[in-house]
Amino acid sequence: MEDLGGKIVVITGASRGIGRSIAVNIAKCGAAVVINYNRDEKGAYKTLEMVREAGSTGIVVQGDVSLYEDAEKIVRDAIGKMGKIDVLVNNAGICHIGLFVDMQQKQWDSIIDVNFKGMLNCTHCVLKHMISRKSGSIINISSMWGNVGASCESIYSATKGAINIFTRSLGKEMAPSNIRVNAVAPGVIDTQMNACLKAEDREILKEEIPMGKFGNSDEVAKVVCFLAGGSSSYMTSQIITVDGGMS
Ligand code: NAP
Repeated sequence: MEDLGGKIVVITGASRGIGRSIAVNIAKCGAAVVINYNRDEKGAYKTLEMVREAGSTGIVVQGDVSLYEDAEKIVRDAIGKMGKIDVLVNNAGICHIGLFVDMQQKQWDSIIDVNFKGMLNCTHCVLKHMISRKSGSIINISSMWGNVGASCESIYSATKGAINIFTRSLGKEMAPSNIRVNAVAPGVIDTQMNACLKAEDREILKEEIPMGKFGNSDEVAKVVCFLAGGSSSYMTSQIITVDGGMS
């Protein structure tokens, strides 16, 4: 297990799903966590309870990552209450399944605002702090669909593709400041994001996955712990795909 003792890790969208698993696994590695949520306060406090059960500490901070002023607040609260930020995990995300021709402009605006601009907002706010400390690690939760594209998830895939190329670019830009920037690109993970799938669609999807099953959130979180810690000290600008061999 990665040793993250003494580190402070901010995780956006940690009120459930992959974000919650990242918080709990990071806590098991010894770091304290800042749990961000937008709407689900109860879920965020449930995550905090699980972090404490895992033997660590943390705080909960509300904020809509799509708003720059909320991203500033998340970073300000984290530094104010925890003293510093070592790692930022940009996990918050939303999706929409449907034909692009049937979508309204406000629907694609909201996916771009949360998935791509939300990541930009939090990254921009935290970088000022990390640059002054000449230390830090940023981990973006992308998607396999950002590499290969998904029918009926064109906008979602485009936001994740944008995250991938931004990750590659910013990692190079920030390397001289001793700040690493990497991404994890999960395949199909069993969370509420996929709860809309009908049982028969789940079975069809499983057949397309060489490992024959959906991934679970812990399988993504463990890769995040690796990228957060010293074992990945020479890695930056990388996209690690965790998809059971699907892409
Ligand atoms: P999820 O269960 O739907 O959880 C999404 C999380 O994002 C929730 O905690 C939600 O919090 C938060 N969130 C949404 N909008 C937000 C906003 N504007 N500001 C702050 N937080 C916000 O989804 P998930 O499956 O865990 O997905 C997590 C990440 O993994 C996403 O970036 C997703 O694109 C990516 N991913 C998922 C899969 C998959 O198959 N599940 C595959 C590839 C990539 P509130 O409810 O409090 O708003």
